[in-house]
Formats: sequence, C-alpha cells, structure tokens
Amino acid sequence: MASRLVKLAGMVLGAGAVGALLYAERTRPLRKQMRKAAPRIARNVAMGAACQAAISAAEVPLTERIASRNAAHKRGLSGLFGGGIMGSAVAFLAMDYGFYLWHVATHKVPLLWRFHRVHHVDPDMDASTALRFHFVDMVVSLPWRLVQVRVSGIGPRGLALWCRFFLFSVLFHHANWRLPRGLDAALSKHITTPRMHGIHHSQNPCEMDSNWSSGIAWWDHLHRTFRDDVPTDTITIGVDDPLAERDTHLLPALRAPFAARLVQAGGLV
Ligand SMILES: [Zn+2]
Repeated sequence: MASRLVKLAGMVLGAGAVGALLYAERTRPLRKQMRKAAPRIARNVAMGAACQAAISAAEVPLTERIASRNAAHKRGLSGLFGGGIMGSAVAFLAMDYGFYLWHVATHKVPLLWRFHRVHHVDPDMDASTALRFHFVDMVVSLPWRLVQVRVSGIGPRGLALWCRFFLFSVLFHHANWRLPRGLDAALSKHITTPRMHGIHHSQNPCEMDSNWSSGIAWWDHLHRTFRDDVPTDTITIGVDDPLAERDTHLLPALRAPFAARLVQAGGLV
C-alpha cells in the first residue's frame, strides 16, 4: 500500500512538473517558433511513443536485471566505492557521464549520426523535441546503455532515480523556456539549461559541437566543450543539409537513417 502511494505521488509530481514546464513555455518563450506547432508536436509525440515502446520491450528488462545483479554482488564503480550513499552517487554520475560520451559519439560516428540527426532535424525546439528520436536508435544505443549500467554498478533504485532525472532533464533543456539570464548562467554551471542546449541544436557546426551534456553540465566544463557565448536570437535551429526539410516529416524521418546516401551535418558525403 505504502509503495503504491509513493508511486502515485511520484506520478502526480511528474505530471505537475511537466505541466509547469508547458505553462512556462507558453508564458516565457525563449525562441520565436518558425513552424506550426500542432503538426510538429503530433509528429514528435508519435515518435516518442514508438521510442517508449522500444525502451519498454528491450531496454527496461535488461537494465533492471543488470542493476539487480549490481546490487546483489556490489560490483562496478559503485562497488569500488563501497556501495552505500557514496557508491550510489558515483554510479549516478557515471551513468550521466556515459551519456555525455554517447552523445558525442552520436555526432562523430556516421552510422550513429544517421539516427541522431532525426532528433536534430526538428526546425523548432520545445519540450516535444525531447521525444523526437528514431525508435531504432533505442535499439542501436542499447549495448552502450547496458555497459553504462554494468560499469557504473548502479542498483535498481538508483537506476529508477536516474531514469526519472534524465527524462525530466531532457524535457527541461529542450523546453522553449526563457529563464532569467542570471539564473540560467548559475544553473548552467551544474545542469543543462534550455539556452545552453539551444546552442547545441544550432545549424552552425561549430556551435553544434558544444554542450553535449544531457543532465549534469560538469562534463562540458571538464572537457571545455561548454559554450554560452552565442545569443539565442542568432541561432538557426535544425540541420543544414539538403534533405533536412524533407526529413522533418514523420515517414521520411523514419526512412532517412536507412537511405543509401550518408547524411552528415553540413552536407552529404
Ligand atoms: Zn545532439
């Protein structure tokens, strides 16, 4: 009974947080939106639903099994730090850092970019962009996700916490929400903010090659990939290649990673 109540409270809290985010997007937009919102959001939600199905079928059972073994055998980085709060914190950070490395790889490895491009091709950016991924991407990224869970040594509770943190973080930093400048600057020392991630979604390859963090922002500061020197109003969101406009639509986007021509940021190769 108690666990059901905790679960319900978590769901209410989560729904409240998402509702607050959507309200903030309407009242304090960060970017002028260039396209009609409804069809774009509908496409993104449909792609997000397909991704969730792939995650539930493939990722969740495997990661939960590894996390249970991590806890039983005190293994991975968490085990090295003796488990407990210290071990859990190290595992949480390792999961987040693993995602930073993966994100860099999705831009630098042509095969992975084929799938990640589907996310970047969105010509506007708001919380719905956080859902816009190719469902096959969830399968392609699965081996790395399993490595993250195994190496970090994260346990089932830590994994559940990290998944919630990660989901809210991606919704938050894709949101079209203008935070007060001082608050954004202070937050971006520690977590990925909407303004910060907007620079990563720039069509300009030099600007896109920055701000890879998806949760904790320390990794960008550590690797000197952090940028906050690009005014939001000068950024064109999306991907600058000849097929980008076509691939904003649902079916072309789903087919695009399997097209014969390999599409790279900035052109075809
Ligand atoms: Zn990216």
